[in-house]
Amino acid sequence: MGSKGAYRYHWQSHNVKHSGVDDMVLLSKITESSIVENLKKRYMDDYIFTYIGSVLISVNPFKQMPYFGEKEVEMYQGAAQYENPPHIYALADSMYRNMIIDRENQCVIISGESGAGKTVAAKYIMSYVSRVSGGGPKVQHVKDIILQSNPLLEAFGNAKTVRNNNSSRFGKYFEIQFSPGGEPDGGKISNFLLEKSRVVMRNPGERSFHIFYQLIEGASPEQKQSLGITSMDYYYYLSLSGSYKVDDIDDKRDFQETLHAMNVIGIFSEEQTLVLQIVAGILNLGNISFKEVGNYAAVESEEFLAFPAYLLGINQDRLKEKLTSRQMDSKWGGKSESIHVTLNVEQACYTRDALAKALHARVFDFLVDSINKAMEKDHEEYNIGVLDIYGFEIFQKNGFEQFCINFVNEKLQQIFIELTLKAEQEEYVQEGIRWTPIEYFNNKIVCDLIESKVNPPGIMSILDDVCATMHAVGEGADQTLLQKLQMQIGSHEHFNSWNQGFIIHHYAGKVSYDMDGFCERNRDVLFMDLIELMQSSELPFIKSLFPENLQADKKGRPTTAGSKIKKQANDLVSTLMKCTPHYIRCIKPNETKKPKDWEESRVKHQVEYLGLKENIRVRRAGYAYRRVFQKFLQRYPIS
Ligand code: ATP
Ligand code: MG
Repeated sequence: MGSKGAYRYHWQSHNVKHSGVDDMVLLSKITESSIVENLKKRYMDDYIFTYIGSVLISVNPFKQMPYFGEKEVEMYQGAAQYENPPHIYALADSMYRNMIIDRENQCVIISGESGAGKTVAAKYIMSYVSRVSGGGPKVQHVKDIILQSNPLLEAFGNAKTVRNNNSSRFGKYFEIQFSPGGEPDGGKISNFLLEKSRVVMRNPGERSFHIFYQLIEGASPEQKQSLGITSMDYYYYLSLSGSYKVDDIDDKRDFQETLHAMNVIGIFSEEQTLVLQIVAGILNLGNISFKEVGNYAAVESEEFLAFPAYLLGINQDRLKEKLTSRQMDSKWGGKSESIHVTLNVEQACYTRDALAKALHARVFDFLVDSINKAMEKDHEEYNIGVLDIYGFEIFQKNGFEQFCINFVNEKLQQIFIELTLKAEQEEYVQEGIRWTPIEYFNNKIVCDLIESKVNPPGIMSILDDVCATMHAVGEGADQTLLQKLQMQIGSHEHFNSWNQGFIIHHYAGKVSYDMDGFCERNRDVLFMDLIELMQSSELPFIKSLFPENLQADKKGRPTTAGSKIKKQANDLVSTLMKCTPHYIRCIKPNETKKPKDWEESRVKHQVEYLGLKENIRVRRAGYAYRRVFQKFLQRYPIS
């Protein structure tokens, strides 16, 4: 029998000897090397899933595996974990059944570095739940929306990075809501900090969000004409990073999928056109360039103003004025007055980019809102939450966005530690069960370094303080920040500074952050002038994306991007803590994105920082089955 035949035989029949061990609790020796060896053996035999108790480890195969069909859906439904080979369907099934039987909300935390397979895993969970649950036409409609939300949000929120061709540049927590009978009849998405700076700059070899390329490749001749679509290299914003095509992405086909998704979600033709008009508007905005005239910025070629102004429904002269000047509030002799300031070239470019980023981010939020409205339910019963965020990432140059992304990953690692390593061990001690403590690295110290409010203040607090005292762009605030960080937390064991920034020793490795632009991006204020400009649009849809009340917003300290992500991350943690948690730990076996390519040291590093060894030890020393007495009684009554 050929290897493929043998594999199929293995997969179909139960109780056969599998490759390596299915559950690493059964390893005879628990060392990082034996874990890696087991994962490798399985991976090479095409088994991408392995358990540690109820935790699922998933190694990215970089090819389509044959075991995600109807047959497997049947096979895993209602089956006990040990009956079948490890599979994401088994985890999804256990979440679904737990929810129905225990009447408790469930969540799955999918973690792993960029490109490890989190988004693919999230989609498998969603499709499994949708396939095994029943329901009439109304429920089917909700299921369609749930599934179609993926291509739509990916079009506007995913991009090719050096690490992953379809990298999520936003985080999302997707709650699928169910009727008491277990039918998905509603849903809610909470999204986290979109990396909007990608619209105007990114690393070489990376792309902006997929939608820009989709529109250019996929627009119909009429759309091309009305939106003035030309070639990709015509647009400054796309030409920046010199990457247009991606091997495994078909932008033309994906564009049709994006449009289809909008239809399913209820964003119909007129609104659809407006959304695309903004996408084209952003591209055209980027082609406005500036020259220096006596220290001030002037638009280089005025003919580049007309088209973006037309697409956004605004007056061309007004656009020019708002890109090259600004009203500033100034306190003078106790009185506050507004003065008109002319911008220099750097400031004008900054203003143009700020507008482009804001437009994209607001369209993204509009899409999330539309999906939420389409799935809205008036009262909530039970839900299954799927958390898929941007993975931990280290680039050559890491900025404010990486800082936020890596912070959220720290928080998730913290939940894992709290719930699986710490709480479980403490429980044994509390119950008076003999227990030899298992050592592990608790990354709370890194979370505190970033988010602590006082004693010593964390990086985000210091950042917010510096931002509160800065007034204009390019004031050297980033350098001030660096000095303050050195002074206040320079001696922290997970912090170092270097001449252009600082280094954090994260749970998943050391990352060196470049200070450049930190304060601006944290401040993230959209100038009143730009809001006014967009509110003057003759297109009600565009106006509605800028609903700010300018008078009311003048008061108080504005929320910064850092404090927003901090709050979101902490809210998320409390939501997750209220659910029964499940974990998928994704591992990326190589950087080549090729199947069967195994880079030993990369995997070992991930096994180490994910705490798999400690996880196995705790699991092995503890009881395989633990349940609160009340719940046990409820579920297994003798009737
Ligand atoms: P990021 O943090 O950058 O968003 P991610 O962890 O979400 O990364 P994915 O986008 O899920 O990573 O996976 C990256 C790519 O790896 C996918 O586009 C796909 O090509 C491949 N891949 C991941 N998981 C699987 C799988 N189970 N089967 C086949 N291919 C996969
Ligand atoms: Mg992803």
